[in-house]
Amino acid sequence: MSDEKFDILLDASRPAEPLPDGIPVLDLPPGHRVDDAADALESLFLTDRTLEDVVLCVGGRIVGITTRAYLTGLGSPVLRSVGDGDGATLPGESLRYEILRYRCPSCDVRLNRVHVDTRSAPRCPNGHGDLELQR
Ligand SMILES: [Zn+2]
Repeated sequence: MSDEKFDILLDASRPAEPLPDGIPVLDLPPGHRVDDAADALESLFLTDRTLEDVVLCVGGRIVGITTRAYLTGLGSPVLRSVGDGDGATLPGESLRYEILRYRCPSCDVRLNRVHVDTRSAPRCPNGHGDLELQR
């Protein structure tokens, strides 16, 4: 399976090697498709207004980095409407994915998943055990 189909979602100006410290991760289930990934990224950026860039993973494997600026430039209609700054409310009910936000209690690892992910709880890549689900 090639990662090329995800290229359209990735900011080519942001190489994933080496991975920047402290950058949040969006970890999608194995086999997640590119249009599903686009919807999940929209949900993530819409519900975390301070987030500017994120590592996209599928099945725990890094496919690259994408940014709010890049996706907005791509013409994402949802993100663009938020960027208008006209005080519009979040179109929460129209989002396909609820984002689950995890955080390591011991370091700055942040990881996001979609609510349809059936895998077991994510673990800190730095060996701190299970990540905590943020409420
Ligand atoms: Zn940790």
